[in-house]
Amino acid sequence: MEGPRKVKIKKMMVERHIPFTEKKCLQCGKSFMGMKIQQYCSKACARKASYWRNPAAYRESRLKSYRKQKESRKNEQKICPDR
Ligand SMILES: [Zn+2]
Repeated sequence: MEGPRKVKIKKMMVERHIPFTEKKCLQCGKSFMGMKIQQYCSKACARKASYWRNPAAYRESRLKSYRKQKESRKNEQKICPDR
């Protein structure tokens, strides 16, 4: 007679070996060690690069969010007007 088999669960950590290569940042030109797909030395550089790819659209979205803020402030004033 055989009872139900006990199942042993073992957690395994998968070790990944990602080759780092010396790269040059597309934004500031600094050399750094990074993954193959990495193009910038830091998040700041990646952000800057995305800005320069389309500055007009970036400014437009900033302006929109600014207007939205202004609009919501106006609404607040309607609810509680200045004394
Ligand atoms: Zn950089």
